[in-house]
Amino acid sequence: MAGEPQADCLFCKIVTGEVPATVVRETATTVAFRDINPQAPTHILVIPKAHYADAASLASAEPTLAADVLREAGEVAAEEKIDGSGFRVVFNTGAGAGQTVFHAHAHVLGGRGLQWPPG
Ligand code: AMP
Ligand code: ZN
Repeated sequence: MAGEPQADCLFCKIVTGEVPATVVRETATTVAFRDINPQAPTHILVIPKAHYADAASLASAEPTLAADVLREAGEVAAEEKIDGSGFRVVFNTGAGAGQTVFHAHAHVLGGRGLQWPPG
């Protein structure tokens, strides 16, 4: 069923605590934790607790939950004090775009100058 936990999903395991993570914020519907391989001084992932393969699938199935993720991205940026200098929210979608974990997640990146367009 859409949104159900997947046994073989790394981020579902972070939601349950089976895999440890440095959690910076948690709500009833989302978890935010530090990326294990940071690409910027601040690099945090915000995920819905429910499993969807990518952000577009999440938004189609549960738009309010997609909004929760986006709102939390902003809250994380404020807590990390990167909201003033500017930050980027990225949803890699599909292997060709660099997605490696197929549980929807927002990358929140900041704390350094960010190039545009991204590579
Ligand atoms: P993506 O490549 O867009 O699917 O992003 C997946 C992200 O998850 C990458 O930036 C990884 O560094 C990160 N990642 C993988 N395993 C872990 C983990 N155990 N804890 C935190 N971040 C992770
Ligand atoms: Zn999952």
